[in-house]
Amino acid sequence: MPEQREDCLFCKLAREGDHVHAADGFAAINDINPQAPVHVLVLPERHVDTFRDVSAFSGDEASRMLSFVAETAAKVGLEDYRVVVNVGPGGGQTVFHLHWHILGGRPMGERL
Ligand code: AMP
Ligand code: ZN
Repeated sequence: MPEQREDCLFCKLAREGDHVHAADGFAAINDINPQAPVHVLVLPERHVDTFRDVSAFSGDEASRMLSFVAETAAKVGLEDYRVVVNVGPGGGQTVFHLHWHILGGRPMGERL
């Protein structure tokens, strides 16, 4: 089992949440407060606080994580979508376990 934090909500959800997709050290869950018709979060099982520390993943793990994001979007039926990572409180991050937002199911527009 990769490194986990007892007190971390997303460590727990990566381990035993209601997964829409799971494979290879990664899990995807529906966001509890969706900002689009489809709003999924991709969680690595391994605890890393923030995308700022993404180099904690090996090249192979990082590559698999990106593939998992794309596979998850396809699995939930999205062809066009937006992928977002909020980094630090000033970037909107509220849960300090690295995660990727996949948003879709409506036109996402040209602007952020
Ligand atoms: P961020 O603001 O980028 O850190 O994203 C955290 C996301 O986690 C927010 O979109 C929340 O709605 C979502 N969230 C918080 N608690 C839960 C939970 N128990 N299950 C699913 N999503 C959650
Ligand atoms: Zn964690």
